[in-house]
Amino acid sequence: MATAFAYAPAPERVRPHLRERYGLFIDGKWVSPKSERYMETINPADETKIAEVAYGDAEDVDRAVRAARKGFERWSKLTAADRAKYIYRIARAITERSRELAVLESLDGGKPIRESRDFDIPTSAAHFFYYAGWADKLEWAVRAGHVAKPIGVCGQIVPWNFPLLMAAWKLAPALACGNTVVLKPAETTPLTALALAQIIAEADIPPGVVNVVTGDGSTGAALVDHDGVDKIAFTGSTDVGKIIQRRIAGTGKRLTLELGGKAANVVFEDAPLDQAIEGIVQGIYFNQGHVCCAGSRLLVEESVHDDIVARLTDRIQTLRLGDPLDKNTDIGAINSLPQLEKIRELVSSGIEQGATFVQAECELPKRGYFFPASFFTNVQTSHRIAREEIFGPVLAIITFRTPDEAIEKANNTPYGLSAGVWTAEGSKNMWIAQHLRAGVVWCNTFNKFDPSSPFGGYKESGFGREGGVHGLHEYLALA
Ligand code: NAP
Ligand code: MG
Repeated sequence: MATAFAYAPAPERVRPHLRERYGLFIDGKWVSPKSERYMETINPADETKIAEVAYGDAEDVDRAVRAARKGFERWSKLTAADRAKYIYRIARAITERSRELAVLESLDGGKPIRESRDFDIPTSAAHFFYYAGWADKLEWAVRAGHVAKPIGVCGQIVPWNFPLLMAAWKLAPALACGNTVVLKPAETTPLTALALAQIIAEADIPPGVVNVVTGDGSTGAALVDHDGVDKIAFTGSTDVGKIIQRRIAGTGKRLTLELGGKAANVVFEDAPLDQAIEGIVQGIYFNQGHVCCAGSRLLVEESVHDDIVARLTDRIQTLRLGDPLDKNTDIGAINSLPQLEKIRELVSSGIEQGATFVQAECELPKRGYFFPASFFTNVQTSHRIAREEIFGPVLAIITFRTPDEAIEKANNTPYGLSAGVWTAEGSKNMWIAQHLRAGVVWCNTFNKFDPSSPFGGYKESGFGREGGVHGLHEYLALA
């Protein structure tokens, strides 16, 4: 019997279309890598191979950059309304294929399907919708008297924690401004970028406008070094960001860097504590803590420290760790074995340096890379766990007595990407936010994103902004 609503299977039951082997997407076509080398991408939740992916070397990067240059001649001359039409097509196709993309993202990277379904994929589509809307309004993005022109060929390098979303953050504004792109996805999570390449092919976007070259760090380095690239947009670790900055110095290439973070999440005694606990949990355990803007340093006012620690001890016990494709899972798999080892090493250092370790008790799956939700108390600001990015589900709790001390401790970091403040007092919220040296400050919430809102860092968290009108400026040359 016909029903009013079409049956839509739950995302975890959707089987994504997978090829055994993926080539490079260059000049609108799938091509083999010159070296004929392929790498495996695995499912970190069970360590099985998902597919083989082309290893692109400097020669392949060169082919892609040349295709992007040719594509630029055509793309930059299209009317803005035509460019918008193509970008809207990408946005719609992501929405139409959102379930498949969500499964693919969780399969390849280990994140809970609830997050890829409700956050990564819809937010990726939202970025394309948002910037498609800007394509024919660029004169409003620049100061009167200036003409907004594209920069040219953009090399874009993305990490593994939000693979499709980071690609969307970069591609959407670049394309809206009339640039063409060579995208380098991370080695462990190439599949959604490759699915996006297929979407782009099916959307009839002119050849060479978007090229996707998979590979490892040296593929990214070849892109950075290529003479035909006019701009590099990089999201990843601070160490690699510094290498790129040095290599680009003096070349005239434009550069934006979105790097690491060690955000302070500051909780005052007058905060609504039930809400704050949820914000703390969201802030550090979202995506297993593989989040550049994670609230990984919890600064709590001394008077509520014991209460918060007791509540958090109970709350982490309720988080379900396991199969990323189960919609009830809260904590999925750690993205790779090296990342798991890095988390373990930093946790050992925290224990050795004298902090107290608390971890949710749960059974770990027999295979795959997993780490239960954890936190440290008795943390000194000098401890490595308080200074270095762990990039895992591990929180460092530090106390403060006065708002001034909270600011001083929050800003005592080489990073400056994000921060959170929890207090019932509006003026205190504003005062703290003004004094935190962080690109984004969330008040009584955490990890909220919108395409219209700029995101980016200070200090060793990088420079340049993604999102909003600010994000357009990074892809425009003014005349
Ligand atoms: P990563 O090691 O720096 O890698 C990022 C990307 O750069 C990957 O595609 C990587 O390729 C490539 N790469 C590696 N070495 C390179 C080189 N010498 N030249 C050019 N490209 C190179 O970082 P990750 O471990 O993937 O990602 C985690 C980091 O990203 C964290 O520090 C996190 O805070 C940061 N992040 C920042 C933001 C932000 O918006 N600020 C957002 C998300 C993540 P392979 O992976 O294939 O080696
Ligand atoms: Mg993988």
